[in-house]
Amino acid sequence: MNIQHNNNSGSAGIYLHIPFCKTKCTYCDFYMLTNESQIDKFVEAICAESALRKDEIQEEVKTIYFGGGTPSRLSTNHFEKIFEALYLNYKIDSKAEITVEANPDDLSDVYLKTLSQLPVNRLSIGIQSFNDEELKFLSRRHSSQQAISSVKTAQSHGFNNISVDLMYGLPDQTEEIWRDNLEQMTNLGVQHLSAYHLIYEEKTRMYNMLKAGKIKPVDEELSTTMFSMLIDWMKKHNFIQYEISAFGKEGYFSQHNTSYWKNRKYLGLGPAAHSYNGYDRSWNISSLHRYIKGVESGNLEREAEHLSINEKYNEFILTGLRTMWGIDLSDMINIFGEDMYNYCIENAQPYINAGKLIIQENTLKLTQKGIFISDGIMSDLMRV
Ligand code: SF4
Repeated sequence: MNIQHNNNSGSAGIYLHIPFCKTKCTYCDFYMLTNESQIDKFVEAICAESALRKDEIQEEVKTIYFGGGTPSRLSTNHFEKIFEALYLNYKIDSKAEITVEANPDDLSDVYLKTLSQLPVNRLSIGIQSFNDEELKFLSRRHSSQQAISSVKTAQSHGFNNISVDLMYGLPDQTEEIWRDNLEQMTNLGVQHLSAYHLIYEEKTRMYNMLKAGKIKPVDEELSTTMFSMLIDWMKKHNFIQYEISAFGKEGYFSQHNTSYWKNRKYLGLGPAAHSYNGYDRSWNISSLHRYIKGVESGNLEREAEHLSINEKYNEFILTGLRTMWGIDLSDMINIFGEDMYNYCIENAQPYINAGKLIIQENTLKLTQKGIFISDGIMSDLMRV
């Protein structure tokens, strides 16, 4: 059975995974490499992949997102080559949102000047914290001063759509430090914030430190207080929480991430990049060497998963409930039928009664109370 979500078939996005980082952060579990010796070959390969897979996207491309890794490890020359390939192979909307993730230590005045002359119109800067102790603990490569100056320099070169990432729930982080981080971020006049609670992913250095008893995670009460401070602070500063961890000024929501949450089609280029064709998800091999070899031979190693109807329903719940747009119940009946709709409503009812979920204009959404226990609600609505 082929189930197509409401994936806005007239548009699509492109994600490019740039797997290089100068050093590895203690909490990182992304596919990345600190050896940059193959960077030129990688750029050639990603350009070639964009040509190889051009038939997969006939729609107009509305968003392009350079993620990683650290895309700001690419030189201007690398970006020029990639853009040339993308504009040659795809129909790109002249108003497309084009984001580059960047680390503050790469964003020199010269680099930002040249980046501003490319089609890039949005920066997502991985600041994580404005506290030097925290930055050291996370093994980030920048100082708080570099973080501040990277945003100001970007603004001086005309970037007026800037997102920053911040992390909370770090061991030893106090409410004061978190408030100071939020204050420094809003003082910079950025348009968007992605705020993530620290997660101890297995196989990371941070996870090993935790297991060895070298660090103590924040207690749950403090975590909740920090999340609550975040929501209140952002509201007070006129940011809209349009997804659990994403806050944007009106008109500055991430179009690219919104497409993910709304189940729109996207093509993922580069090693470990994921794609979604409106039906199934697939991903490229997580090995730079095998990725380059595969592209060169015209036989790219990719895996795909065909989601069962239950898995599609679970994704629909997860991606819908995370956002302020919620789950469209008419879409749910149309896509999954009455039985699944009834299952969802039956399981949602106790939360509706407790004021944690709400149905408004045939849409099921988390309330301000529900957002604090969103994981539990979503898992109760899912099917096993
Ligand atoms: S910059 Fe990002 S991808 Fe690179 S090591 Fe740090 S967390 Fe991982």
